[in-house]
Amino acid sequence: MPKVLHLDMDSFFATVEQQSRPSLRGRSVGIAPVDSPGGTIVAASIEAKKFGVKTGTKVAEARELIPDIVILPPTPNKYRVVHRRFRSIMQEYRGICKPRSVDEIALWLEPSEWDRASEIGVDIKQRIRDEVGEWLSSSVGIGPNWLLAKTACSIRKPDGLLEITEGNRRDILAELDLTDLCGIAGRMAARMNLAGIRTPLDLHDMKPWELKHRLGIIGYYWHLRLNGYAIDTEDWATKTLGHSSVLPRPTASPEDLKPLLHKLCHRIARRLRQDSWLAQGLVISGSMADWGDRWVHSVKLNPTQRRDELFQTAWGLLKSRPPAAPLRKLAVTTYNLRPANPKQPSLLETDRRTHSALIGTDAVNDRWGEFTVIPAAMMGTEEVAGDAIAFGQDLRLQRETLDS
Ligand SMILES: [Mg+2]
Repeated sequence: MPKVLHLDMDSFFATVEQQSRPSLRGRSVGIAPVDSPGGTIVAASIEAKKFGVKTGTKVAEARELIPDIVILPPTPNKYRVVHRRFRSIMQEYRGICKPRSVDEIALWLEPSEWDRASEIGVDIKQRIRDEVGEWLSSSVGIGPNWLLAKTACSIRKPDGLLEITEGNRRDILAELDLTDLCGIAGRMAARMNLAGIRTPLDLHDMKPWELKHRLGIIGYYWHLRLNGYAIDTEDWATKTLGHSSVLPRPTASPEDLKPLLHKLCHRIARRLRQDSWLAQGLVISGSMADWGDRWVHSVKLNPTQRRDELFQTAWGLLKSRPPAAPLRKLAVTTYNLRPANPKQPSLLETDRRTHSALIGTDAVNDRWGEFTVIPAAMMGTEEVAGDAIAFGQDLRLQRETLDS
């Protein structure tokens, strides 16, 4: 499953003030642009929140709740400096890093990092304390798409770390209200209630066609999000498409693996063209003969849907970092897919001609069966491996869920 990591600094403005002025640590602090009774608190420290002061509380009311609360004006420059510093820590990890606001950053991890997502979360939280400021606490949520990562993050604040997995997803959603989901506000929740949907678990569990009937396409989209599908534009980064194949004889030799690598790249390029995606990253991985250790390497790509470009990259990786032990299974995965714009053909004549040749071979293979027309480089690969297995989350899978 793809892994997105969402980080949210706890009580950001107030915590940054406490970081820069140690005498404020452990005290109730409210940030208000205007320190007058009618002024509004825009951020409250973790301590002040415990007494009920939050964003939107009036200064007079905050003083009633906490007589010794410290009210400070915001210092945006300080917040920007801290933002840049924790952002540069997050950018050191393999993946795509996108700020969502001054105190929230999402990281779409590369496939090679999916296994260690929560380790990375722990690591980032600690490094922010060590390298930016010891008082700066943050919360991290991990999930298969951004919405679930953000939801996980909001549940364990402050100083939390929670991963929503296939195993705990239903239990977690059962504890939430519809409005706890980012993107569902009062009016949408009311509309859902009218349609008989009361909790996020209803959206998760109800049959897709039933939701579509009750709420329109929006209901279907919420169902997909809560079930972990990457359907929002920000999640294109985690969209993957790959193929794998079991080897008839385990081998660690790049030359022996080469024909299979050709075949896997060919199939992926074909699916990329079929579904109009450009791949911007590639991972080769393998299972060792004892099914124990995994061998994984990834690299960024210039956006492509061409077999030869995928192959050159994959082959380069395989030659420079061959597996240490014989592989039993080889996989190639492309990731960080973005929609290809078919209306925007390349200006280069050679590119255009290659593209029409590819579309032509695709058509022949569609009609007469896969590998009827193959690139010369793939001659003789037929015996190397049986049929490759397709995997990855794509739009077709989503269409299938709607039909079920
Ligand atoms: Mg925050």
